[in-house]
Formats: sequence, structure tokens, C-alpha cells
Amino acid sequence: MAERSWSFSKAFRTLFTGPELITDETWDDLEAALITADFGPDVTESILDQLRADVERHRVTEVKDMRRMLRDAIEERLAAYDPTLHLSERPAVILVVGVNGVGKTTTIGKFAKYLTAFEKKIVVGAADTFRAAAVEQLATWAERAGVDIVKPQQQGQDPASVAFQTVEQAKNEGYDIAIIDTAGRLQTKGGLMDELGKVRRVIEKQAPVAEVLLVLDATTGQNGLAQAEAFIEHAGVTGLVLTKLDGSAKGGFVLSVQQKTGLPIKLVGQGEGIGDLTGFTPHVFAQQLVG
Ligand code: GDP
Repeated sequence: MAERSWSFSKAFRTLFTGPELITDETWDDLEAALITADFGPDVTESILDQLRADVERHRVTEVKDMRRMLRDAIEERLAAYDPTLHLSERPAVILVVGVNGVGKTTTIGKFAKYLTAFEKKIVVGAADTFRAAAVEQLATWAERAGVDIVKPQQQGQDPASVAFQTVEQAKNEGYDIAIIDTAGRLQTKGGLMDELGKVRRVIEKQAPVAEVLLVLDATTGQNGLAQAEAFIEHAGVTGLVLTKLDGSAKGGFVLSVQQKTGLPIKLVGQGEGIGDLTGFTPHVFAQQLVG
């Protein structure tokens, strides 16, 4: 992960390769860099306040020391949320939710592969039954990851029944983890939330839901948050997956999304390949962001 070139750290590059001593301009540039990197106005202001106080208290005059303080401040904020995935139930049922196009299916494929490295027996459930293409896409990912899949018998089959069958198979055949893909048609928001509620209730007749992961596209930045609200309100989300951080200049979103939703980021997607998913490590992330 450390070798990647992170486009979002560009915002800070000019700042930290400029004059060595802190001036008024440094503060202006820092504010601009935080906004450009999509920290959002609230987080930007609170980081600036904290840094101003720290710089004064420790009589810091050099930009390089300010940079270290910024990195620490970001890491401290990121670390305030617990990224642990709760997978100790057997089977551990994971529901993956989010609007179409954010990278849900891709994430499930990558996540299944990631978990097979821990010798886990995994089944994925194609409960986005409305789009035949979605089922086929998940089947392709399942094959790549070398995991099993439960598919609808016909297009448009009740998503809850596919979810039920997936968990039933997981229980009866000794799987460790069942990951269930869901629909993401936001134009029918009320309907979608009802559908997710039903999927959940049906699953819970057989096993508790261990995690509900909401997938968000980091390139949509602050705008993506509005979409997240309905899911957070209605779907019992336990954690976030941020995708497309590889191409994003908006790494600050990572910080504001946790603060705004109160939810931990549990996984990060950094590319379209099967290996491009990692857990979330605040120290590494703060380092990549600020340099
Ligand atoms: P879904 O509709 O939410 O299931 O989204 P898909 O899984 O079909 O992904 C939508 C598009 O985003 C596809 O072209 C994926 O290859 C791409 N994608 C998903 N995750 C990432 C990521 O982490 N980085 C990049 N660059 N692209 C991604």
C-alpha cells in the first residue's frame, strides 16, 4: 500500500515543499489544502484550531514540525473509530448495501478473496435479483475469488428468499462467512429500504447479522454523504467501505465521513483488481495523506 502514489496528497505537496518557516501564508495554504482534499468545512476548521493552539503552545516555527503535528492530529481523529470487523459468529452474515455504481459487487469479490487468505469458507448471495447483469457480475467475482455463490432461480425473485437460501446453505454446510449483495436503486428509496428491512428480518430468523457494510464512492466526496443518510437511518449500518480511493484527490473525505456518520471505516478499496482492498489503518492513512 505504501508504494502507491496517492493523488490526494498532492494538495499538501506544495505546502510542504515551500518556505521552511511558518508564516500567515502557510496557514492560508494549509486551509486551502484541507478544503481541496475534501476534509469539509467543519473538520478543516477544527483541525486548523487545534494546530494553531499546538503550534503556539509548543512554540513551533518550522513547517516540517507543523506537518508532523498535522499528521498526528489526523491520525488521532481517524483512530477514534474502531475498524474491527466482527466475524466470530459461524456463520458470520455480512450484508453489503449502497447505491448502484459505488463498487458494491467489486468490493464483495475483493473481500471474499481477502477472507479466503484466512482459510475461511465463504459463500456469497446474489440478492440484487432485479438486474440479471448484477447476478452475473457477482458470479464472475465469486469464480475469481474461488468462493461459492447462491443465485436467484429466476430474475426478479424475492431478494429476501435469496438471502434466506444463502444463510441456510451457510448454516447447513459449515461456512464461516456469508456475504450478501443487495440492490441499490435509489430512485425507489422507500421501496429499497423496505426491501433491505425484509432481507434482514428473514436472515435473522436463522442467524444474527454480524455486519452491515455501507459502500461509499470516495470520488463523490461530500455529496456521497447525502446518499448515505437513508441507509444509515434505515439499514442498521455497522461500518463503511470507501471505494475508489486510488483515483481520488479527496482523501480528506475519509476523516469527514467518519465524523459525520459516526461510523468506522472498516475497508478501503484502491483499485479494480481483486487484491485492491485492505483494512483501514489510521497511521498508514495519515502518512499517505500528509506525506
Ligand atoms: P455496484 O453497482 O455498486 O455493484 O458497483 P460495481 O462493483 O459494479 O462497480 C462500479 C465500477 O466501479 C466498476 O467499473 C468497478 O470496476 C469500479 N470500482 C469499484 N471499486 C473500485 C475501486 O476501489 N477503485 C476503482 N478505481 N474503481 C473501482
